Amino acid sequence: MLRINPNFCRLESQYLFADIARKVAAFREEHPERRVISLGIGDVSRPLIPSVITALHKAVDEMGTAAGFHGYGPEQGYAFLREAIVAQDYATRGVSLQPDEIFISDGAKCDLGNFQELFAQDCAVAVMDPVYPVYVDSNVMAGRAGELTEQGWNSLIYLPCTRENDFVPDFPSTRPDIIYLCYPNNPTGTVLRRDALAAWVDYARREGCLILYDSAYEAFIREEDVPHSIYEIDGAQEVAVEFRSYSKTAGFTGLRCAYTVVPHAVRIHDGKGGKVSLNAFWNRRQCTKYNGCPYIVQRAAEAVHSEQGRREAQEIIDGYLANGARIANALRGMGLEVYGGRNAPYLWVRVPADTTSWGFFDRLLHKAALVCTPGVGFGLSGEGYVRLTAFGSPDDTTEAIERLRTL
Ligand SMILES: *Cc1c(COP(=O)(O)O)cnc(C)c1O
Repeated sequence: MLRINPNFCRLESQYLFADIARKVAAFREEHPERRVISLGIGDVSRPLIPSVITALHKAVDEMGTAAGFHGYGPEQGYAFLREAIVAQDYATRGVSLQPDEIFISDGAKCDLGNFQELFAQDCAVAVMDPVYPVYVDSNVMAGRAGELTEQGWNSLIYLPCTRENDFVPDFPSTRPDIIYLCYPNNPTGTVLRRDALAAWVDYARREGCLILYDSAYEAFIREEDVPHSIYEIDGAQEVAVEFRSYSKTAGFTGLRCAYTVVPHAVRIHDGKGGKVSLNAFWNRRQCTKYNGCPYIVQRAAEAVHSEQGRREAQEIIDGYLANGARIANALRGMGLEVYGGRNAPYLWVRVPADTTSWGFFDRLLHKAALVCTPGVGFGLSGEGYVRLTAFGSPDDTTEAIERLRTL
């Protein structure tokens, strides 16, 4: 009998953003005269930088010539981009990697969702709480998360991140095999300082765990003692895979390019007493299921690594960070506790004691026509917080701040 994969039936429908959209639509209907400003968007808003546009035009023209045409490319990505990444993103930070440890793709979300395929069904998985939903849902689809209960998925190990532990997760009481860490963090906007990240690398080495490190927001880091890469920590190349993306770094959310670093030094049990190279298995997986990121997009990504490209991309990020700082000031002026926002485009705001995540969402919507994201939508430890983003335009940010001040 044709039957749907039962693991997919366990997934909850994605009600968070649907619920938000429904509430906003109802508010607009009741108050057509009020302009709603969203501080909830998780997408960039500024256009692509000139360096990227120039590289795109050039690559498009090349594709129209017999000499410059590119068909199927290497599944792992072109050498020009893998070499630029090794030189610009890693060597400059004292990290030594080989180009064949870099795998180019069309998104970190796909890579993060796909990577769990390499692990046995009974591996124990730890995630931060609150959490970027992809890590959880992809393991649910693989049948690795167990059943959904009042406390979350009963086979997942949750690492609560709250004001009580300063958003630095404690080591779990049960040993995980795989640990997803995301820093700078979505949704909380908080970071791990060098000593805290080093402690997690030590833990993984001691306990034989693999860390899947999502550093999609590394380009927002402005403080010295916050590592951009997990490989800045000695020994991490044996226990960590790193995921990066041009989406937030250079506004590629619609263009699509990312990469995953799988060091040769990561070796995991084969179940027969030996060990295998994770790099070789990810390569095998990608060659079977993926045909590579488009040539013109990889040329555009290469341009982000040029001197001018880096400068242009950083100017845009500086603008987003400036928005975040202004919103944070306004909220603190209202007497609210605000976390994150300094090395990340997200602000994690503690709601007043008399309300909840959703209660505060309703208050902002009805009193100020502002949209935020209720923290509880990212996990149980997100109750009592809302997420605001700094991706709006400067003008919308200014108006949002004026409205906050009148609350
Ligand atoms: C935006 C984001 C990504 C990037 O995803 P892409 O598929 O590369 O656009 C990865 N991780 C987190 C936590 C994100 O918020």
